[in-house]
Amino acid sequence: VIVVRAAQQAGDVAHREHLTVDSDAAYEKLVSELFDTNLNGLIEAAEQRQSFPRALIEALGQQDVLSNKWIRPDKQDLGRMITLADHLGRAGSIGIGVGVSLHDTAIAILRRFGKSAYLDSVAAQAINGDAVLCIAASEAVGGSDLQHCQSHALPQDGGYRLRGRKKFVSLASLSDYALLLVRGGTDSTQRPGDLALFAVPTEQLTVASVCRTAGAATLETASITFDTWVSAEALVARPGTGLAAISWGFGHLRLSLAAQFVSASERVLGLTAARMKRRAQFEQALFEHQALRLRIADLYSRVAVVRMALRAVQTEMHQLDLRTAAALKVTAARLAEEVFSECMHVFGGAGYLADETPLSRWWRDIKLGRIGGGTDEVLWEVVAAGIQPNDTLYERLVNE
Ligand SMILES: Cc1cc2nc3c(=O)[nH]c(=O)nc-3n(C[C@H](O)[C@H](O)[C@H](O)COP(=O)(O)OP(=O)(O)OC[C@H]3O[C@@H](n4cnc5c(N)ncnc54)[C@H](O)[C@@H]3O)c2cc1C
Repeated sequence: VIVVRAAQQAGDVAHREHLTVDSDAAYEKLVSELFDTNLNGLIEAAEQRQSFPRALIEALGQQDVLSNKWIRPDKQDLGRMITLADHLGRAGSIGIGVGVSLHDTAIAILRRFGKSAYLDSVAAQAINGDAVLCIAASEAVGGSDLQHCQSHALPQDGGYRLRGRKKFVSLASLSDYALLLVRGGTDSTQRPGDLALFAVPTEQLTVASVCRTAGAATLETASITFDTWVSAEALVARPGTGLAAISWGFGHLRLSLAAQFVSASERVLGLTAARMKRRAQFEQALFEHQALRLRIADLYSRVAVVRMALRAVQTEMHQLDLRTAAALKVTAARLAEEVFSECMHVFGGAGYLADETPLSRWWRDIKLGRIGGGTDEVLWEVVAAGIQPNDTLYERLVNE
């Protein structure tokens, strides 16, 4: 492994040296060792407390895991992003994994669209693990239909007055900056879809208490309200381009979530296979009962296929493709929901008892996968927009 010392320029941020790894194998080793020695334990403890561990973001920054995905300033290494997501999925906390991906997605947006020293500095702090970022897009009027969001930005004193309310903001209570999606322009001239994106210190927002949820409580989601002024330097994407910027960022989020759901599925299937070999009913191990064995084999097969698709993305997708990201996320999330439900079923009553196994908690947590980062239907719409009919074949074969 060749290791190079690299210095990161970070505007007014304290200069920090990062260890740069020059191969994907070295990156895998770096991440793997860190999770084994430190992060798996940290995540497990936070999962017990049901809170998001800020120390995890700090460790990922300080131990160069985040910086090594950003060897190129404007382009994240997608293969390494999936490597990190795999380890997060295997660590056993859906909420914490999703939280890290949101932080990471905000970095991707700032790196790609941010054009001011202030935004460079926010991104550098986040990569160093010195700042936590959150994304505030969804509102009560719509999470799927972001174009009609009501929060808005009005030009004022050389900067912008931002006013509004966001319903779901994960990690808001522990973040340092939020990316706010708002309508741009003046009240009278703005049109739906005229969205802008700003990076705002969370101390300028009012964060409500954390919502009670069906699961994934470690994600610590809360609503926010704001009526605040920011300088023009805080503008990440000008009016009319905010939706494109957030959608591009969500492409990263969706790929990362797909990888997490696949590795989490592999983990729970492994646990369930062990259960099936150990527990006997009707004088035979559960694994010897064909009805169960084949159901689990079916799930293994489908998870393996999505795993192979992710490997192909790791090696072949050099530019982010939003449709592939949407297709992978919706497929992996639906499959994971089925896997977790079936595995809990195979554990029988013990699967349902929270004091005996974690299966019921995981089953509740994984439900978020089909909602957060875009629901199934929204992602299928992204896929549908790219479907090309084969008219030549139709004209040759259909003779009405
Ligand atoms: C725990 C949690 C954490 C979250 N964290 C964040 C966060 O950090 N930042 C953030 O911005 N948002 C966050 N969200 C919001 C999340 O992204 C939205 O909940 C999600 O996008 C769905 O939006 P909605 O809740 O408004 O549902 P709706 O948009 O009201 O959708 C309701 C149902 O209708 C379906 N539907 C909607 N439109 C169509 C259509 N055109 N065709 C067919 N079906 C359709 C949807 O698929 C869904 O099943 C979070 C949500 C939760 C629950």
